[in-house]
Amino acid sequence: MCGIVGFTGEQNAAPVLLDGLKKLEYRGYDSAGIACMYNGEISVIKASGRIANLCERTDDGRSVQGQAGIGHTRWATHGAPTEENAHPHLSNDGRFAVVHNGIIENYLTLREELIRDGYHFDSETDTEVIVHLIEMYYRGDMREALAKTTNRLSGSYALGVICTEEPGRLYAVREASPLILGIGIGENFFASDVTALVSHTRNVIYLDDGEFAELTPDSVQIFDITGRTIDKKITRISWNVQAAEKGGFEHFMLKEIMEQPGAVKATIAPRVRDGRIVFDELTIDREILSGIRKIVITACGSAYYAGCAGRYALERLCRIPVETELASELRYSDPLIDAHTLLIVISQSGETADTIAAMKECKARGARTLAIVNVVGSSVAKLADDTVYTWAGPEIAVATTKGYTTQVTALYMLALYFADQLGLAGDAYAELLKALQQLPRRIQQAIDMNASIPALAKKYHKSKALFFIGRNTDYAVALEGALKMKEISYLHSEAYAAGELKHGTIALIEDHQPVIALCCNPHIMEKTLSNIVEVKARGAEVLALTFRNNHKILAEADDLLFIPDMDPLFSAVIEIVPLQLLAYYVAKENGCDIDKPKNLAKSVTVE
Ligand code: GLU
Repeated sequence: MCGIVGFTGEQNAAPVLLDGLKKLEYRGYDSAGIACMYNGEISVIKASGRIANLCERTDDGRSVQGQAGIGHTRWATHGAPTEENAHPHLSNDGRFAVVHNGIIENYLTLREELIRDGYHFDSETDTEVIVHLIEMYYRGDMREALAKTTNRLSGSYALGVICTEEPGRLYAVREASPLILGIGIGENFFASDVTALVSHTRNVIYLDDGEFAELTPDSVQIFDITGRTIDKKITRISWNVQAAEKGGFEHFMLKEIMEQPGAVKATIAPRVRDGRIVFDELTIDREILSGIRKIVITACGSAYYAGCAGRYALERLCRIPVETELASELRYSDPLIDAHTLLIVISQSGETADTIAAMKECKARGARTLAIVNVVGSSVAKLADDTVYTWAGPEIAVATTKGYTTQVTALYMLALYFADQLGLAGDAYAELLKALQQLPRRIQQAIDMNASIPALAKKYHKSKALFFIGRNTDYAVALEGALKMKEISYLHSEAYAAGELKHGTIALIEDHQPVIALCCNPHIMEKTLSNIVEVKARGAEVLALTFRNNHKILAEADDLLFIPDMDPLFSAVIEIVPLQLLAYYVAKENGCDIDKPKNLAKSVTVE
């Protein structure tokens, strides 16, 4: 996955492209490049590593001339993250340059064919076949050349293309990778994400799969593979530029942790009217719900753990069996799914390749699909029968925080809404709805009551390994807590169902081994307490997460994290907050690149 941008207008393109790439750096950041057209020639400048290197090389774009160009920030799939493999890629005759997000699955066959035809390759990427195909098919008509080229490609691609024969003109193509056009006055843009566009324009067009666009400073035309013009609606973006920037925090991750009260409120508030939950956007009704025999939640990474946490509320309130399945497993599992299955798909970006594939597989078997997604107009949202947007705003840090909490919140809302539709909510409805509406305030309390976390991070940051334990919803949160810790601090962390320790893991407990014990579920508190005593007896140091007045746990634990008193049915959204902060401060102690952890990227649009 990667980020691509394009610009055509009156001003110098390179600074605009670099600015856009910086906003997209979260999508991939192993190398970057730009190509600009000037005086009938294309100049390409690339640098391995971060975009800062490219800025340095080009004097922030000032040393590159040309008023139209394309840019790329890469997350390598084919070929090492070197300068040669960085995009844009140039045709042998120097007339065409291409940037690409995605994977060309049949690139090896195409590469052999092109080599036989006399083309030479400068990189190991799958992408380079595209630019040579365009050169091969170009007979003075770019639309025709692009149609012929894309006809030969299988896989996923968002493409940006420029050609010296057509100064000031950009071409863009979308197939299974995100691409958005930005409509300005006397200037036009494209980008993988609106974050790169909002500082220039709020008027955007979301391209769909199979659509092509031709942009000049004064015109935008969209067409299909036959060249037929397509009319598209312009959408107005309500996000502001500051929302996509750090707003005074040292890292996007910390800013996004602190934004959680507001983000969770944005998920809940528009959906409560006159004391009832309303989902105006849903077409799934009482009749369809009554026919559902099973709910399957599928997702990847933290979104999967959000499903694990939300599952308990769905089962308890709706009395429908709920399974959680990793999308990368579900897609190849010949799943037992039919028209009586509701598939809930969760993805922050809505572009997660495994999730999309699992969703297609289940749709083909007749499942009804409901997506929980943050990015409007994303692929998952488009594929689903129903979509519930989380409205968390742009999430830039690679490790999700507000993405996760808003996903769990959306599941809680759906659980109570479905229970109500099924006539199962009963007298508890008002009380449960109140508990949901209190979540934003509870998150703020959880932030405020854990001022000791930076000090705890100093104590624990050098540990060889961290174990997270809990039962029931506490276990689900432990999974996400451990993932947060490993992805940003690189500490080996694992989550275990507390009752499972004695079946193996307890063998690893030795003197001073930190164990983070989640104890926020009163009906099984005594059981987790026994597990705490067991690990302490073997030398462990216990950092417990619990309520302030939970004296039994307070007496046993070495250190403490707190959550406010609340209904345990909805506590996952609160419990995770101190664990996010702990991961953040441990990573900071370890000097890690918190917003861009190594080997990771924000939206995983490859398998
Ligand atoms: N497959 C292309 C490459 O490895 C593009 C990867 C991406 O989307 O970042 O260069």
